[in-house]
Amino acid sequence: MRQNIIAGNWKMNLDFNQATELVKEILDKQKESDVLTIIAPPYTHLKSIKDMLGQTDIRLAAQNCHHQESGAYTGEISVKMLKSVGVDYVILGHSERREFFNEDSLAISYKVSKVLENGLIPIYCCGETLEERNEAQHFHIIEKQIKQGLFQLNELELNDCLIAYEPVWAIGTGETASPDQAQEMHAFIRKTIANEYNEIIANNISILYGGSVKPSNAVELFNCPDIDGGLIGGASLQVDQFIELTQSF
Ligand code: PEP
Repeated sequence: MRQNIIAGNWKMNLDFNQATELVKEILDKQKESDVLTIIAPPYTHLKSIKDMLGQTDIRLAAQNCHHQESGAYTGEISVKMLKSVGVDYVILGHSERREFFNEDSLAISYKVSKVLENGLIPIYCCGETLEERNEAQHFHIIEKQIKQGLFQLNELELNDCLIAYEPVWAIGTGETASPDQAQEMHAFIRKTIANEYNEIIANNISILYGGSVKPSNAVELFNCPDIDGGLIGGASLQVDQFIELTQSF
């Protein structure tokens, strides 16, 4: 079912002490709200942060995983490992994974399936580059990423996924898609899903916007009918901004 969500992607930031400090501050300052709050710290911090979160409503995400169950994949992390330390969500296909680690939508689709098989929830990221937008290829690119990454799933499986639309040109750049640009793409993603599956699935799935979201631009973005929240990078490391974002609906 569609929900308002704020998910903080900490990327490769914060050592263990800084991370636990940030969690303490979030717990101290969080306010009553219906918004589902998720944080995605680096792997090394997950177990301790899970213990700190305890019975609170804040959920834990990992930033990636491997698509195999287990085996000789030095340096990789399986979904079962994530599950065993209490992770609920896994961010997949972030543009930084696509760009720096050559992940393509097909490879990400295997991870999506593995995450679902283990009862966790994928946050599937898609987004076009500035060049692709300038060449008016953005709808085509997003359609391709959505089809290749998610359309191997049956209705029930897709229903369990979250999607994050993150134009690459807006990530960490301070530049945000305008509410109209973001809304237009979110509506397009729903239409793409409705065409392949049905309107019910398309309307039920939560689609987050990501790309330099901060308190000063969040309200306008989150007011758009097809935007259900945000995947937040930079601002998720600033406790006051992060808390304010959870109050921006
Ligand atoms: C992200 O990493 O997913 C992101 C959107 O980063 P930022 O908010 O810093 O642009």
